[in-house]
Amino acid sequence: MAVVEEAARHYIDLDHFGDSALYKMPRYWKEAVERYSEDTLKAYGIVPWHVNTMYYRLRDAFLQRDPQLILKLSAELGHYLADANVPLHTTKNYNGQLTGQEGIHGFWESRLPELFAKDYTLFVGKASYVSSPQQAVWQAIAVAHGQVDSVLQIERELSVQFGEKKYSFETRGKQTVRVYSVEFSNAFHKKLNGMTERQMKKAIKLIADFWYSAWVDAGQPDLKKLTQYKPSQEELIKCKQELDQWKQERIKVRDHEAEY
Ligand SMILES: [Zn+2]
Repeated sequence: MAVVEEAARHYIDLDHFGDSALYKMPRYWKEAVERYSEDTLKAYGIVPWHVNTMYYRLRDAFLQRDPQLILKLSAELGHYLADANVPLHTTKNYNGQLTGQEGIHGFWESRLPELFAKDYTLFVGKASYVSSPQQAVWQAIAVAHGQVDSVLQIERELSVQFGEKKYSFETRGKQTVRVYSVEFSNAFHKKLNGMTERQMKKAIKLIADFWYSAWVDAGQPDLKKLTQYKPSQEELIKCKQELDQWKQERIKVRDHEAEY
């Protein structure tokens, strides 16, 4: 069960809630639960609300001056915020499985950055204060969701154009795997016109804004004092155990929700 709950924190199937979901969905968890029930929300993804929860947990970690917790929650919050900026994390057709485009999820968020991120310029300037984290994440989701149709349509058109040349084979270690060919990836990337880079930059900026705002809301504790912190041997062992457990659960999540 815990694994299913974790998976739901990374996406929201907005289109499950109808065409105008973005406009009619309650922004805040309580109202959303009243309208749709907690079970329904958890079944179709809760990323916008979970981000908000994580924001307050991070603020509290700053309030407690707990460096380990601050780092852990910052990383987790960053992951959820980045997911909220991925168009295919906002639709029930998250892997193109409803339109015969299976694999498009990893294509967009892994294969493209693997091939092209070396040319991205990811400078986003200074972090700014976010007065409403809950509204801010919804804004990001709206922008991401607005690009779902283009992502799917461009891939569909290029698939027709490329035919068999859509895929090629690459050796990874001792295995030969089928991948989207470099030519096809190039064409997709070109037609997306910088979308992955743009979305990555948006994610970076939003993550920085959230971290900064949580720190401000906690009264701007002196981080220089916190960075002097050296974990004890016991704490390090505990951390390692947590990490191992996390990795195992991560594998299970992957089994459950192939691309998430
Ligand atoms: Zn993903």
